[in-house]
Amino acid sequence: MSSALENLSQTVDDAAALFEVTLSDAPLPETDREAALAAPKFGTVFTDHMARVTWTSATGWGNRRVVKYGPLLLDPASAVLHYGQEVFEGLKAYRHADGSIWTFRPEANAVRFQKSARRLALPELPTGDFIGAIAALVRTDVEWVSSGDEASLYLRPFMYASEAFLGVRPTLEAEFLVIASPVGPYFSGGVKPVSIWVAEDYHRAGAGGTGAAKCGGNYAASLLPQMHAYEMGCEQVCFLDASTNTAIEELGGMNVFFVRADGTVETPELSGSILEGVTRSSILQLLTDRGHTIVERRILLTEVQEGLRNGSITEVFACGTAAVVTPIGRLAGEGFDLTIAGGDAGEVTMSVRTELTDIQNGRTPDRHSWLTQLV
Ligand SMILES: *Cc1c(COP(=O)(O)O)cnc(C)c1O
Repeated sequence: MSSALENLSQTVDDAAALFEVTLSDAPLPETDREAALAAPKFGTVFTDHMARVTWTSATGWGNRRVVKYGPLLLDPASAVLHYGQEVFEGLKAYRHADGSIWTFRPEANAVRFQKSARRLALPELPTGDFIGAIAALVRTDVEWVSSGDEASLYLRPFMYASEAFLGVRPTLEAEFLVIASPVGPYFSGGVKPVSIWVAEDYHRAGAGGTGAAKCGGNYAASLLPQMHAYEMGCEQVCFLDASTNTAIEELGGMNVFFVRADGTVETPELSGSILEGVTRSSILQLLTDRGHTIVERRILLTEVQEGLRNGSITEVFACGTAAVVTPIGRLAGEGFDLTIAGGDAGEVTMSVRTELTDIQNGRTPDRHSWLTQLV
């Protein structure tokens, strides 16, 4: 079995076997499950079970289990409810044509989860427990992984400070869970370019802050500017750097790329306030393989405006696990409104999207060994 844990002397099987499974006494009836899988709405329906690991500073990580999906018991004084000590991840499980189920670069998510936890002063979950929890949950809820075209099971690992204590210091107790939700093709009825509003009054993260960590607080900070983007007739918001308000950073939950007419592809360098996407790094690799010149650097909004006006930037796209690759057809902000590629999806954008989803779904060889088999 292909394994992300090969160099860790622990196999996916070993890691999953540490989880004690207690089956739900009330799983969703098959007909309801089939209906949910036929028309999944992102993040609204969850599988029958959840994986869980508990941490205390005294005993470390323990009590690995898969239990019935359901509400959590939270003390009202739980630190997470007051000081936002929480981190999360997002990845997917894909069913291939032969029925086997795989996930994409889970060790990258596990390592990022450790980095996020460190920044939020939460305990670091070992990679084996991260992947073991995912494997144990997917094996338990295996019928929830649809074989439908472009369908997958979205996995949401997260950790929160559960200690009941109002003093301001790192928690001495934490809970790690994985929940799962079936997702269909992100773009039903074909890929449709989105419009982006560049926020100049709000930032999602600043130098030395938590921008490079995947934590709920960053998302909380992005919601008001996101609402403003809607009001301005755009679907998503793009943030600039907080220090100078001039360099493009990323969207609320997606990294951003610019394709130039000469084939050069540019993306903002990891500034410390940008989240390092697994999709971002995979796309950088795929485009490098194709011979594109890749530039990771500080990219000014003014350069992008000029490039779109004079035609030297031909495509702009955003990327992340949920939507994979999303073409951007319009970039607007205070005093400008620019159409990109005539508002259509560009060629590089669409071909890299196809290549990545083909690898994830087992339709093309996994030449970088990015897939880990779960079932
Ligand atoms: C999760 C996330 C991304 C995308 O990361 P992937 O690993 O590609 O899913 C980009 N930006 C932010 C702020 C994120 O939280």
